[in-house]
Amino acid sequence: MHDLVIENARVIDGLGGAAIEGGVAIKDGRIARVGKNLGSTKTRVDAGGLVVAPGIVDLHTHYDAQLTWDSFATPSPGNGVTTVVIGNCGFTIAPCKPQHRDLTLRNLGQVEGMPLEAMQSGIDWRFETYREYLDLLERKGSVPNVASFCGHSSVRVNVMGEDAMKRKATDAEVAQMKGIVREAMDAGAIGFSTSTLEQHNGEGGIPMPSRFAGEHELLELTGALGDAGKGVFMLTKGMTTTIPWLEDLAARNGRPVMIAAMFTDPNDPERVVREFTEIQTARRRGRELWGQVACYPLGMEFTLSLPYPLHAILAWRPAMEALGSDRYLQLFKDRSFREAVKAEARTKSVPVRFSYHSFEHMHVHETSNPKFRPLVGSRVADLASVTGKDPFDWLFDHALDGGMQTLFDCKLFNVDEEKVRDLLVHPCAALGLGDAGAHLSFLCDAGYGLHLFGHWVRERGDLTLEQAVQMVTSRPADAYRIRDRGRLVAGAHADVILFDPQTVGRGEKRRVADLPAGASRVDIPPLGLKGVWVNGQHVVDEAGPLTDCGKPGVLIRNFPA
Ligand SMILES: [Zn+2]
Repeated sequence: MHDLVIENARVIDGLGGAAIEGGVAIKDGRIARVGKNLGSTKTRVDAGGLVVAPGIVDLHTHYDAQLTWDSFATPSPGNGVTTVVIGNCGFTIAPCKPQHRDLTLRNLGQVEGMPLEAMQSGIDWRFETYREYLDLLERKGSVPNVASFCGHSSVRVNVMGEDAMKRKATDAEVAQMKGIVREAMDAGAIGFSTSTLEQHNGEGGIPMPSRFAGEHELLELTGALGDAGKGVFMLTKGMTTTIPWLEDLAARNGRPVMIAAMFTDPNDPERVVREFTEIQTARRRGRELWGQVACYPLGMEFTLSLPYPLHAILAWRPAMEALGSDRYLQLFKDRSFREAVKAEARTKSVPVRFSYHSFEHMHVHETSNPKFRPLVGSRVADLASVTGKDPFDWLFDHALDGGMQTLFDCKLFNVDEEKVRDLLVHPCAALGLGDAGAHLSFLCDAGYGLHLFGHWVRERGDLTLEQAVQMVTSRPADAYRIRDRGRLVAGAHADVILFDPQTVGRGEKRRVADLPAGASRVDIPPLGLKGVWVNGQHVVDEAGPLTDCGKPGVLIRNFPA
């Protein structure tokens, strides 16, 4: 007898096959059968003709800290995600010696926009080594399945302390770091992650530790994957790392390389096209390179008191250092500071960074100052042009005029959907970049899979539902060597979602305060999702997460070559 049968459904297998009428039978946490006449069962669910598909595998999350206090990894399972990969971009909380906890959190708070007070009161620090961290997560349990990268910045701080954010490593330090990465691989990491992206800065605008690494260090640390004979190298790429160089790494180690963040950048729309051509060429030579893409515009809300998108501009650094002091306002008045920012924003040197194009998609979103109410809803490019000002000058003047707390809404990248479609359908593309668990105060893209089904399948018709499901299930699982997940076939783990293809999507953005210490975050509720099962256990129903669902997720630690 089966434990559960979900019947009267359109079953999409996640492997790209056409949907079939029928259902799935589940026993002992695995798919027992797919099709019709599934036999006797303890529990039976009538899907009412809706779609049953594998749960979504989210390759790019930052739940490293949150999972130590929130086993649900809110809000991912509520958005159809059954497996989360944490530790992206090299930003992790393990390994971590007690004397480095403060530095680690202050950096994370800055680079990933996580509320510091929430992390300080929420994190369970009962670990030092990477293996101890995985053991802790495994002991605590989780609702979704979890796989974890070993992150470069944490490894660097572990070996070099404060110097990790000051200088290149010595050969001895590199050897020690390599040993830690190798140990992490043996302990069950899914791979090694890093960032060379210019906007990845820690506290005070100082580049994150991984950005101080030289070529030798990157060669050695990724070499640990080659030595282990398993694992993925994931990086968020800045201007210093080229695709041919990454192809070389893939060739040396014989391991897949996942390259983020492949957005279309209005400031240099050809770059991503060129890079995908290079990736495809590498593929033909047998190197497994992937470009990580997103299916929505990258948008953010921010105020000029803490303008995250502007932190990517190198000339903005003095303002980051002056945060919270009088000098911050002084800089806004300073002509030479203004000119340096403007000059840099005119160049194409740094990928996916705030530019003059951003003002076209930047609006006044909210203000508590009555004087500025009439501006709500206006585009900054228009406000600047009616006053005859450069848009940066308009911004600075607005701040000095009392608008430091005006909330702006800005769509930075992936704005042109025709260009985004070309990326989505690229054979070397892996869909992800939801950044779930990060940037909590200004975005929430954990529901990217539901958005793919609603917007790109139903509304735009660019993909079939079968293609879209494959893009968020078996394809990412296979790229990351996550076995027997992301597919509805006999023997696979029973990670399953049930949704209505006529209504699936994302709802209206809202703000909720469910973080430790009462900190708040942006939330975008799901639409049309009727149920989620992890390893056969019901964790979400039509009304949302089932708080008493237990912790059916597993920590995935065993990866094949
Ligand atoms: Zn990231």
